[in-house]
Amino acid sequence: MRCTHCQKCCRDTMMELSETDMVRLERRGYKRQDFSYIGVDNIPRLRNEGTWCFFYDPERKRCREYASRPLGCALYPVNVDQDGDVFVDGLCPQAGSVTDQEMRLKGKRLVMLLATIDAEAERRKR
Ligand code: SF4
Ligand code: SF4
Repeated sequence: MRCTHCQKCCRDTMMELSETDMVRLERRGYKRQDFSYIGVDNIPRLRNEGTWCFFYDPERKRCREYASRPLGCALYPVNVDQDGDVFVDGLCPQAGSVTDQEMRLKGKRLVMLLATIDAEAERRKR
């Protein structure tokens, strides 16, 4: 797909984060308590500042950490529903440009990512 940087997915984000995502962003000089929060489900998610994701620069209209962005952001608009079925989120204006092969490959990576995030959430409970 060709992301047009339309900004939609950087607004009111609830993107889940893995430990790997958070460590990568910490290495870029950010503190995890600034860019994320842990919900009642023990899953870390990107924090918003106002309506925008912490990492979004409204003036330049782009992600400040695009190269280091969370894996979930890189895989979007491919998503997984509650039954574990992979789908393309129609909220993305470029959803129609996602090829079947891209959906399969990104879907596999996303299923693995969500399993990792869930396992990390379980460990946080202990
Ligand atoms: S909604 Fe789609 S086109 Fe817009 S920034 Fe996100 S991935 Fe790119
Ligand atoms: S990390 Fe970057 S790509 Fe992901 S939601 Fe935030 S601003 Fe958008």
